[in-house]
Amino acid sequence: MAGRSEGTSAGASVRHRVVIVGGGFGGLFAARLLKRAPVDLTLIDRVNHHLFQPLLYQVATGILSEGQIAPPIRSVLRRQQNTQVALASVTGFDLDRRTITALRADAVQFELPYDSLIVAAGAGQSYFGHDEFSRWAPGMKTIDDALELRARILGAFEMAALEQDPDRRRAWLTFVVVGGGPTGVEIAGQIAELAHRSLPEDFHTIDSTSAHVSLFDGGKEILAGFGDKLSAKAAAELERQGVEIHTGSIVTAVDRHGVDVKGADGEVTRIAAQTKVWAAGVQASPLGKLLAEQCGVECDRAGRIPVLPDCTLPGHPEVFAIGDMMSLDKLPGVAEVAMQQGIYASQTIKARLRGHDGDRKPFRYRDLGSMATISRFRAVVSFKGIRVSGFPGWLMWLCVHLAFMTGFKNRFITVVQWGLAFIGKGRSERTLTLQEAVARVAIEEAGGRPFLLRITAEDAPGGTEGKPPASSEP
Ligand SMILES: Cc1cc2nc3c(=O)[nH]c(=O)nc-3n(C[C@H](O)[C@H](O)[C@H](O)COP(=O)(O)OP(=O)(O)OC[C@H]3O[C@@H](n4cnc5c(N)ncnc54)[C@H](O)[C@@H]3O)c2cc1C
Repeated sequence: MAGRSEGTSAGASVRHRVVIVGGGFGGLFAARLLKRAPVDLTLIDRVNHHLFQPLLYQVATGILSEGQIAPPIRSVLRRQQNTQVALASVTGFDLDRRTITALRADAVQFELPYDSLIVAAGAGQSYFGHDEFSRWAPGMKTIDDALELRARILGAFEMAALEQDPDRRRAWLTFVVVGGGPTGVEIAGQIAELAHRSLPEDFHTIDSTSAHVSLFDGGKEILAGFGDKLSAKAAAELERQGVEIHTGSIVTAVDRHGVDVKGADGEVTRIAAQTKVWAAGVQASPLGKLLAEQCGVECDRAGRIPVLPDCTLPGHPEVFAIGDMMSLDKLPGVAEVAMQQGIYASQTIKARLRGHDGDRKPFRYRDLGSMATISRFRAVVSFKGIRVSGFPGWLMWLCVHLAFMTGFKNRFITVVQWGLAFIGKGRSERTLTLQEAVARVAIEEAGGRPFLLRITAEDAPGGTEGKPPASSEP
């Protein structure tokens, strides 16, 4: 397949055409590696930004702005002359014809041909069959989620300040976090810090330090993947901050006013809480299932498509599925896996173009460990059997996160914001708007899909159904 280019509806391309679906960790690292390759590359994403998901909780709690963790993909790749960026949602694949189908933001559909395809569409939140919970307990996967949560968390303190009824005020000041993995631990710790350090001086009619932050997890300990010792340290530190940890507890119902929790003894307890955060469970992108149907494989329970040891699909060596949406050797759904697979996929494409198709070794993951922050200056790090916690762990967390953030300007501003939030008490990103708080639910109730602007193909001036984008401007 090296260097092959068939006729395209764009007509002009004679170079090998690479299409990358998704500008997250996997897609972006794959794209960067193709910077000087003799290919025509199109990176297509349904959002215009590359999202640094590990810091979403800091947007949700007012430390960082969304722009700092989500630079425009177009800007990140601006120096790649061989690359087009397209803002559109991929809806289908034809692996035999080697085309993908996508919808622009105005609902106009188009096709894009490829010679090599890298699909890195990530994963979304899983509510374990209870999608109705999402209405009251947003997950934390996107910028929309983080801004909605920020509005709900900060809005809860505002509501409490005006509430005369003590029970209702308590419900506004009770925050439930579901899921004791790194995301749940980080957001619970930051809500507690917000209540205890940042807000007390701003509220005169309520005591923000009386807020309850409850973290529920069905397992026997939080941060289970970090080992018993780090898990216990993290739990002790969280409790010192005022987070109540309930392990062996499964949230069985979520509604506007609270949650039902089934404890280890089987008893169900009702907790009145206006603000709920869902940080439990992931479901791979539905694009995995679409690909699986075409190449005759089955996705696992989390919707991940099984890939061959070289990250390609059975019968389709020109199609790679990488990152959170694939399953291979029980690799974890972490950024490092996606980045390393993105690099591997692009290296394979480059090797094939040089005619070294058969030389490639299977993908090997280099485990660089995992980490989670507990509070300011406290983190836990697990790396090749070495366990670090407290301030040394936090310093490691700081260096790694700064190293992997995209853009020097973002790194610089982030350091300043962290200084303000961690050394001082300030959180500069505390603007909340009604739209952020209610828009998702309102759009869903109106029967709309948030991605689309609800303009039909006929409404769109010069509808371009069936044609690929003519330029990098979608
Ligand atoms: C809150 C949170 C905290 C995390 N913390 C850590 C951490 O500390 N360390 C760590 O290693 N990992 C962490 N992770 C996991 C890590 O972010 C993921 O493993 C990583 O992002 C996976 O990369 P990916 O490229 O597979 O998918 P993603 O980075 O999710 O990118 C997928 C991209 O595909 C796009 N896309 C999806 N569907 C379509 C479509 N139909 N059409 C077009 N585009 C589409 C999306 O818009 C997105 O840009 C965290 C995740 C979350 C949610």
